[in-house]
Amino acid sequence: MQSERFFLNPNLKLENTYMTLPSHLFSKLLPISVPTPKLILFNHTLAHEIGFPTNSFNENDFLSFLSGNKVLEDTMPIAQAYAGHQFGYFTMLGDGRAILLGEYITSNGERLDIQLKGSGRTPYSRRGDGKAALGPMLREYIISEGMHALGIPTTRSLAVVTTGEKVLREQPLEGAILTRLAKSHIRVGTFQYVAKWGSLEDLKALADYTLKRHFNCSSKEENPYLYLLHEVIKRQAQLIAKWQLVGFIHGVMNTDNMLISGETIDYGPCAFMDTYSLKTVFSSIDTEGRYAYGNQPLMAKWDLARFAETLLPLLHSNQEEAVSIAQKAVSNFSALYQHYWYNGMCAKLGLQHQDIEDKELIHTLLNLMETYEADYTNTFYHLTINQVSGTKLFDSKEFKDWYQKWQSRLKQEGTSPDSIQNLMKQNNPVVIPRNYRVEEALEAAITHHDYDVLIALLKVITNPYNYDKIDKSYMEMPDSNGCMYRTFCGT
Ligand code: AMP
Ligand code: MG
Repeated sequence: MQSERFFLNPNLKLENTYMTLPSHLFSKLLPISVPTPKLILFNHTLAHEIGFPTNSFNENDFLSFLSGNKVLEDTMPIAQAYAGHQFGYFTMLGDGRAILLGEYITSNGERLDIQLKGSGRTPYSRRGDGKAALGPMLREYIISEGMHALGIPTTRSLAVVTTGEKVLREQPLEGAILTRLAKSHIRVGTFQYVAKWGSLEDLKALADYTLKRHFNCSSKEENPYLYLLHEVIKRQAQLIAKWQLVGFIHGVMNTDNMLISGETIDYGPCAFMDTYSLKTVFSSIDTEGRYAYGNQPLMAKWDLARFAETLLPLLHSNQEEAVSIAQKAVSNFSALYQHYWYNGMCAKLGLQHQDIEDKELIHTLLNLMETYEADYTNTFYHLTINQVSGTKLFDSKEFKDWYQKWQSRLKQEGTSPDSIQNLMKQNNPVVIPRNYRVEEALEAAITHHDYDVLIALLKVITNPYNYDKIDKSYMEMPDSNGCMYRTFCGT
């Protein structure tokens, strides 16, 4: 290690409590040096939110920090080991192109991982080059910030720098590094790794660490590990319900891409649905539709079952008992998910309370949307502003019947039209990061180094519930059939 790889910034302290875990859970290493780093995007809003000491850096050190050319003195970056089921098949993975610089304590006392993605090979790179191309890193920046603005728990994006190097994919592409922030990077796959290759003590250490870092487990809990399982299931039920409610399709819900903290991670082949259909798939590699829109709750449950399996030895000393406890916990997922989803759907329709017949009301609307190939986001937007004519759906007899039922149901609530509309405005975004808009922004950025389109898009999608100031061009559906759109893995 050369001394010029380190710098001092008394205003920035990074901790690394993850290194208190058994040493085979991570590998210490420095990011690789890159020739000519250039700052492309910096998230000033986020930096401000977390009290990141941007101003206390000199320009060179800042760029060196964000590109991995220099690391903070007294910190030790690491790559984390993890395993995972990818499309159903178990395999060893780990941070193959990401390095955790350390944990930053925000001005609110929250602990956040600061990770560089695309920062060179690690012991877990397998055949990969450890690098990332500019397009996928910008894509992650856009979508993660869009998700955050929609109110969905997610990792955040602090910065994107280009490296001055080409990365070789099907063709040479501009190399880039994303600075990602997360409550932690502990995944279902991290537990799978320890359960498979670690000792019972290692598993206990990871579970205890996770409980301490993310969950407020009272000492009165009879079995803290069962509490952990219940809480992780609950957070995932909440998260997936939020995805479904805005039409977000992750694309690769492998167990290594499920964070224990309940944040969304890894924006590879993800996209937002235009026309409503449960079968919507965007990912080019998801040929069987395993991770299709309508399958996401089921796949989350599948992933959670894998998580529960890792905890078995901590749930009960008798294996049969442990399996029965785990099964019971995982089976709760469906009811929890339904609960959060119906609550969310009722809010989208302006209903503050739930009635037994609301389920039918909701499903009838969704079925009509599917039949008449209605745009998911725009349908709810038009219901919100009560402008319901001029589309195949709105002009259909079935919709008009539905509308009457909805209106009488709203009357039954006894709330004022204003409060109904306010509730709807808070739950029905005006804009989502539509695929063709994202692609257009990436195209301008990558081909022409024109970032104006991307900046304009970011401005709109980071304020998605603003009904007062609407740029209608961002609400338009794609020209051709948006369902034909394909996204590719971000490697
Ligand atoms: P992802 O599809 O980004 O969730 O990555 C799945 C696995 O592949 C993780 O272990 C990554 O670290 C690894 N990986 C993805 N891209 C690369 C790359 N370019 N070089 C090395 N490892 C990679
Ligand atoms: Mg991943």
